[in-house]
Amino acid sequence: MLVLVNDQIKSREDVRIDLEDRGYQFGDGIYEVISVYNGQPFLMDQHMQRLERSARELMLDLPVSIGRLKEKVQALIEQEGRSTCSVYLQVTRGAAPRRHPFPTSATPVLTGYIMDSNPPRDLHAEGIRAITTDDIRWLRCDIKSLNLLGSVLAKQKAVEQGCQEAILHRSDTVTEGSSTNVFIVKNGTLYTHPANHLILHGITRHAAIQLAEKLNTNVKETPFKREDLYEADEVFVTGTSIEICPVTHVDNRAIGNGQPGDVTKQLQRAFYDLIVEETAM
Ligand code: PLP
Repeated sequence: MLVLVNDQIKSREDVRIDLEDRGYQFGDGIYEVISVYNGQPFLMDQHMQRLERSARELMLDLPVSIGRLKEKVQALIEQEGRSTCSVYLQVTRGAAPRRHPFPTSATPVLTGYIMDSNPPRDLHAEGIRAITTDDIRWLRCDIKSLNLLGSVLAKQKAVEQGCQEAILHRSDTVTEGSSTNVFIVKNGTLYTHPANHLILHGITRHAAIQLAEKLNTNVKETPFKREDLYEADEVFVTGTSIEICPVTHVDNRAIGNGQPGDVTKQLQRAFYDLIVEETAM
């Protein structure tokens, strides 16, 4: 396996992560996951802009310019000879003796590598099942930080109940999924939580909103309640790995007729077309 370390591509065996790296000890860092189709990173500019924003919000200096990083991501995909996969990138504040304040001596470290991934087209056709659970995460979910325990615990709970996703709520307001954004469809209108500090501003969420608008579907970025989720005509989730995926059951209750809905299917088709358009050579 090849690994990008700052702007050098190395063999995994030659990469050393320091014991006192702040990513390892404090979760003091950020990440991105970018899908690759046809050997081309999909919506790479949007991912890079979000990486820059996450870094800025945490006062973290990226060790490589975005221009150089994009070149290196492309080189990594080519050298690994991959067509469909994803790229994981993370940046930590670097290594320093373990004290909470920002160290003056540490240098941020970027690492990146290719992960296996396949768009789960079977789930797209069937839909997934979800549970709801309390959103116990911090109040800066807009930063794509390495601190993922709130999401990990929620996803584990879902899996233990035979479900694929956990839909999070604060009091009774639905925020997002443990690793996805959540939409409901009611009377032909899409609803999703506004892009504020309580959710990750998903790149797929944004693409779905733009596609819906192109299809003349009304979109409201308005908070909705858990009860609205149960009573929705359709529910779907969006994310880099899962793309646009219908949710047919929430907390063992069927959504609509318990089958993927027409608005969701129309958006999925538009999303597949977008992938082809954006990643054609
Ligand atoms: N929300 C959370 C909490 C996530 O972790 C993710 C992706 O990892 C998403 C939403 C989806 O974001 P994107 O579409 O940019 O992958």
